[in-house]
Amino acid sequence: MYDVLIIGAGPAGASAGIFMARAKKKVLILDNDKSGTKKAWAANHYAVMGITGYDVFETGKRQAEKYGAEVKLAEVSAVERSESGFRVTACAEVYESAAVILATGAAKGLARQMGLQMKPGKEEGGPEVIAVDEEGRTSMKGVWAAGICTGQSMHISITSGDGARVAINLLSEWNGRQYVDHDMMC
Ligand SMILES: Cc1cc2nc3c(=O)[nH]c(=O)nc-3n(C[C@H](O)[C@H](O)[C@H](O)COP(=O)(O)OP(=O)(O)OC[C@H]3O[C@@H](n4cnc5c(N)ncnc54)[C@H](O)[C@@H]3O)c2cc1C
Repeated sequence: MYDVLIIGAGPAGASAGIFMARAKKKVLILDNDKSGTKKAWAANHYAVMGITGYDVFETGKRQAEKYGAEVKLAEVSAVERSESGFRVTACAEVYESAAVILATGAAKGLARQMGLQMKPGKEEGGPEVIAVDEEGRTSMKGVWAAGICTGQSMHISITSGDGARVAINLLSEWNGRQYVDHDMMC
């Protein structure tokens, strides 16, 4: 049983995974490796002089793993409610988790299949995006969403920041107070 299962290991999903794993939550990230982000050359990411989309992906996954997240290559085909949270089916495997974060980028089929409320999108990530409240909750209790699947602007700084923001909001909900993740140099 995982605390949180994250669908999508792009900037939004991996960033959410880093924050959840650093908070000592049991995290599984599933990704089907279909993102166009891997083809990017990003020269506009704050404090990074230039990075390939491939490196963004691979470093993001490794960073989440460093703090204990499991990352698996798999396509999620169904997310259903279970007694303890959610039952997630991916490549004939079934996983249980208390919460789910959708970070599926341009792919919204899963969200539609789950019956989540959608809304019109603005950029290429739309015509339709997942409707979320200001914290990142979808219309299904326990399911959160981040990144361009929710209509965030298609930039790595923004989607990675959104994944972090949504993870912090989920952790704050669970803890009953605002969660902060700070380290200091010795
Ligand atoms: C060619 C190109 C160039 C770009 N250049 C720049 C740039 O220079 N600077 C910049 O800031 N931004 C750039 N971007 C935009 C940036 O890549 C996106 O804004 C950002 O990556 C989106 O992050 P995300 O995590 O929301 O989605 P994604 O990065 O798309 O991640 C979503 C992940 O979810 C996976 N997924 C979807 N459905 C499922 C499922 N059912 N099961 C399992 N996995 C699933 C996908 O395969 C994917 O890996 C570029 C994008 C492209 C395509």
